[in-house]
Amino acid sequence: MTRKPALSPETLTAQGLGHVSPQFRDLAPPLHPSTTFERAADGSYPGGRVYSRDASPAYDQAEGLLTELEGGHQSLLFASGMAAATAVLQTLEPGQAVLAPRDMYWALRNWLQAFCQQWAIGLVFYDNARVDDLAGKLRATRPRLVWVETPSNPRWDLTDIAAAASLAREVGALVVVDSTVATPVLTRPLALGADIVMHSATKYLNGHSDVVAGALVARADSDIWQTIRRNRNLGGGVLGPFEAWLLLRGMRTLHLRVRQASASALAIALALDGHPGLVGTLYPGLPSHPGHAVACRQMHGGFGGMLSIRVAGGEQAARAVVGRLRVFKQATSLGSVESLAEHRASVEGPGSACPPDLIRLSIGIEAEADLLADLLAALG
Ligand SMILES: *Cc1c(COP(=O)(O)O)cnc(C)c1O
Repeated sequence: MTRKPALSPETLTAQGLGHVSPQFRDLAPPLHPSTTFERAADGSYPGGRVYSRDASPAYDQAEGLLTELEGGHQSLLFASGMAAATAVLQTLEPGQAVLAPRDMYWALRNWLQAFCQQWAIGLVFYDNARVDDLAGKLRATRPRLVWVETPSNPRWDLTDIAAAASLAREVGALVVVDSTVATPVLTRPLALGADIVMHSATKYLNGHSDVVAGALVARADSDIWQTIRRNRNLGGGVLGPFEAWLLLRGMRTLHLRVRQASASALAIALALDGHPGLVGTLYPGLPSHPGHAVACRQMHGGFGGMLSIRVAGGEQAARAVVGRLRVFKQATSLGSVESLAEHRASVEGPGSACPPDLIRLSIGIEAEADLLADLLAALG
């Protein structure tokens, strides 16, 4: 069972867990840059820390807050989202198998293919918009781990986490959810049966395009979780103390940012849907989206700030539209206060399954009217 915090998540987040040091009663948390911690005369460690690669007080508040928001047992911060994701996947052993979504974060898909080939780990892709496809591949493959990304890049397909978790349990597989796009504000995968949640904290959790970070949250302690902890400590994919401090500062406005981005994204998707310059608007909040019913069940308070549009006229037309945007910044990444647009296929490069006419939009917290006017002007 997941724990229920006594205070609501909005309160915990705004107050950064509300810890105040007894010495100065300072409301902003201190920065802890020390890499090493003094022993007492008897050789013990009165501060409870030895060396900051093992455990740093710089992480305590951000990890504790994320644990509360996700309703988990424990969190671990990493140097990036990729460091967090690969720390989980590196617990796989030769001869085991992993199921991964057809539509998923491109860099992780590439890494996973090379990793599985190098270590003779079976890798099977499932159609993440179809639970029946996942069910069939689970029975045929009997994997150790199922990777879920929902909503998934860049079509924002939904995977039903509760259904995936109960199917995975039948074959003894772990379920790990990349919840970067949903954030704990909209979806809590652990309460739906997932074993581990992963975040690129670079995105919504930090939210200001100025920190690269990652995080994992476990539902319960386990051998795998202990291995992941050990891999962070000894593999050394740790976050710097200043980045951890900035991350906590960014997280304090998480609810407001995610709600505003979600509300604007829905309004923009509704306004663009059916535009003659487009052949498709992909957003889970649109009733026409294939994942809409699942999104209504597992996303609460919004459908997220990410949407994609497919431009009539193909790749050249799509690139021209991106080039005409003035309020949206043409850049990769997502989940920040400023809105970003990118021609996704050219970022992913050769072998990309992303349609060449697709523009990925990360909706920020600017005035929705400015964003919509910018898109309409660019579409002509
Ligand atoms: C950005 C991203 C990642 C990778 O995270 P980094 O912080 O860039 O290493 C993984 N999954 C998703 C969904 C992402 O958007």
